[in-house]
Amino acid sequence: MKKLLYTFLLSLMIIVLFSNCKSKSEIIRLSSIDQLDIYRQNVVFDQELSCSDVLSYIPDDNLFQKQVRINVQFMNSEDSLHGFNEEKGRWYMKFLIHNANKRLRGNQKMNLPEGNDTPVLAPKYQYVITSIDDDDGYFWNYDDELCYFVNKGRHRNNYDKEVIEKYEIGGDSIINIFVMPHHKDSLNSKSYKTHGTGIALGNSLKIAGLVEDKEKPWAYATLLNHEIGHIFGLRHTWAYNDGCDDTPKNPNCWQETKNRKGCEGPISNNLMDYNNSQMAISPCQLGTVHKRLTMKNSKYRKFVKEDWCHLDTSRQINIIESVNWFGERDATSDIHIMDGATLTVHCRLSIPPNGEIVIHPGGKLQINEAATIHNDCDLTWKGIRLLKKGGQQGELIISQSAVIEDISQI
Ligand SMILES: [Zn+2]
Repeated sequence: MKKLLYTFLLSLMIIVLFSNCKSKSEIIRLSSIDQLDIYRQNVVFDQELSCSDVLSYIPDDNLFQKQVRINVQFMNSEDSLHGFNEEKGRWYMKFLIHNANKRLRGNQKMNLPEGNDTPVLAPKYQYVITSIDDDDGYFWNYDDELCYFVNKGRHRNNYDKEVIEKYEIGGDSIINIFVMPHHKDSLNSKSYKTHGTGIALGNSLKIAGLVEDKEKPWAYATLLNHEIGHIFGLRHTWAYNDGCDDTPKNPNCWQETKNRKGCEGPISNNLMDYNNSQMAISPCQLGTVHKRLTMKNSKYRKFVKEDWCHLDTSRQINIIESVNWFGERDATSDIHIMDGATLTVHCRLSIPPNGEIVIHPGGKLQINEAATIHNDCDLTWKGIRLLKKGGQQGELIISQSAVIEDISQI
C-alpha cells in the first residue's frame, strides 16, 4: 500500500501537463532508471521462442530494411585478357547487384510442398556497394597465379582462400565478391563447362562464368543471392536437414522434366536449390539470415550498415495488436504502442539515439526478465513516455531482472 502511494505521489510529481488546441492529455516521462524502477514487478511473461531461435528472427512489417555491405574484386590475368575491363565490369556488376536486390524484394511463393500455405515475406535485406576510402567499391586485380577459378581437375582451386586473403578489402565488415575467369586451359577442354558457379568461403565469395557470358548480368543474380545465402547460414535444402521445416527435401530438379522421376512437377523454386527459378526464400530461411545479421554476438552483424545508430524521424513503429518480440531487435525509429495493443520485449532491443518508446492510453509495454533495452551505438535514448487521457493511461510492467540502460537524464 505504501509503495502504491509512493508510486502515485512520484507519478504526480513528474506529470507534465501537455496541451494543444484540440485535446488535453498528460504525459509521464520516465527518463531515469529510478523512475523506471517503480514499474518493476516480480513477474515473468511466457516466452515461446528463445532469443537464439531462428524463428524469433522471421522479419515482420516493423523490421527496417537491413543494408548488407558488399564490394567487388575483379580478377584478371596480368595481360588483362581474361577478365572484364573496367568499364564493362562496373556496368555488369552494377546491373547484376541491382537485379539481385530486385529479385530478393520479389520473393515468390514456395512451390513445395505442393498445396503449401507458407507465407511470402519481404526479405528485409539488400546489398549496398561500400567504399572504404576514396574508392567506389569496385577493384581490379591482375594476377596470373590467382586470378582463375577452377572447379574440376588437377588444378582445382575453388576451395582455395589464397586469392581472398591476398586481395580482400575490409573483409570483416564487407562481403568481398570475387569475379573470376575460368582458367584459360579449362576453356580449351570440351568436358569443362563454363556455366555460372560460385562458392562462399567464410565472409567472402568467389563466382565464375560471368566473364564468359558478358551480356547477361541478370542471369547470375540468383547465383549471388544463393552464395550470400550460404554466408548468412543457409544450406541447400534438397538433400539434408537445413534446419527449416518449411523447405522440404526434394530431387533438386533444374526444371520440370516429364521423363525424369521426381521432376515432373511441381519442382522447387527455392533460392538454395539448383533450379531455374531460385526466387523463393521461406520464412524460416529469412529467420536464419536475420538471426546472423542481428544477434549482438554474431560476427555477421558487422556486415550490416548501422542504420540503427540514427533516429529515422520520417517513420515510427506502431504496435497495434498483441506482439511478442522474441528475438533481438534494433529499432531505427520511435516505438508507439497504441490503444488496445501490447508489446512484450523478451530479448535485446536497441532504441536509436534520442529515440523513445511511447505508450498510448490503453497500450501496454511488458519487459521480460531476460530483456535488455539499450542503445547499441554508445549513445543515449530518451526513455519511455506514458500518455494519459480521460482516465486511461499507458501501462508499463518491467520484470525485476530486466536491464534498461543508456537513457539520457532529461
Ligand atoms: Zn550452394
